[in-house]
Amino acid sequence: PVADTLEQALAAIRPAVRQGKPYLVGTPPEAPIKLNQNESPWDLPEALKRELLEAFFALPFNRYPAEHPERLRRALAEYLDWTPEGVIVGNGSNELVFTVGLAVIDEGTPVVLPRPMFSLYEMIVRLHCGRLHAVAPRPDLHFDVEGLLEAMRRHRPALVVLTTPNNPTGLAMAPEDVEAVVAAAPGLVLIDEAYVEFADGVGARPLLDRYPHVLLLRTFSKAFGLAGLRLGYLVGHPDVVRELYKARIPFMVDRLAETVALTLLRHLDLVRERVAEIKAGVQWLYRELAALPGVEPIPSQANFVIFRTPLEPDVLLARLAKDGILIRNMSGYSELRGYVRMNAGRAEENRAFMVALKKALAGHE
Ligand code: PMP
Repeated sequence: PVADTLEQALAAIRPAVRQGKPYLVGTPPEAPIKLNQNESPWDLPEALKRELLEAFFALPFNRYPAEHPERLRRALAEYLDWTPEGVIVGNGSNELVFTVGLAVIDEGTPVVLPRPMFSLYEMIVRLHCGRLHAVAPRPDLHFDVEGLLEAMRRHRPALVVLTTPNNPTGLAMAPEDVEAVVAAAPGLVLIDEAYVEFADGVGARPLLDRYPHVLLLRTFSKAFGLAGLRLGYLVGHPDVVRELYKARIPFMVDRLAETVALTLLRHLDLVRERVAEIKAGVQWLYRELAALPGVEPIPSQANFVIFRTPLEPDVLLARLAKDGILIRNMSGYSELRGYVRMNAGRAEENRAFMVALKKALAGHE
């Protein structure tokens, strides 16, 4: 009977998986102004898209892509002034988080994560039954560097993850703090720089030259505006990267995504122009939010801002949704109860958001 084999099918799934929760943003309602997923507000310019369609035409869809997208690997190595053997391209940086998890975390492997942090990392540790040592933030929500150093001394983690600028707070670590953690780490340090292009300074790239136990993780989803294509890359010492390749899913990057990324790397001016506009948008939003009584934004180095208001997040989200605006409730993070997060949109979207927010705070529906 069907019911018996259903039982056996479910019993075959590892407890760590069955006890977990899927990573879901939730299917948001269609909204004209979508500011809830830290995406870019702009698609590629039409002329560039047409050029890409031509390029797609020449691709053999019946053939597997290269096992590793060599041309993209080389282009990224050039972009980062690094060696191609030290670059892995993945199906979104999320996929590469799974690769690192598979390569590093066994049952009981100690992993140190500062909080609050992009929740996928905690999920990976749990899926592999690693030993998670979370370090609470300082009262200002910055990572607690002293706490991290202490946790590393105490637990000797195989892996420490830093996200800077951090999602969900938008706060960046000071370079000397990043280096202090790196210098003291007894295993690998993965530095997730998904938002680095929006931040001041050059990020952690210089550390690669001096610390072979550092891995940098970056993405095409944010500053490059390619969230829909799924492309991320991991950069590290070639000997470390060679080992990580053994945990890779083969053929993970398709020909279309590789072609688009290569094209965009030849149009870095466009990327930089858009980054500058988004940064200006974030600064404008921060100033406008800070000027509203009872509204507390956190200064951000990313393409988004978190803030709280006197309203419950769900009430605020519902009021904004009536005006066609979608933002995100951050209360799922225990440190961020009452906070919401929005990414900068186009200038007119940001203005519409502020109008709707003022209306929502005034209690009009
Ligand atoms: N890292 C961080 C810190 C993020 O915020 C995100 C996006 N939510 C990712 C990685 C994943 O990006 P992607 O898989 O689109 O490259």
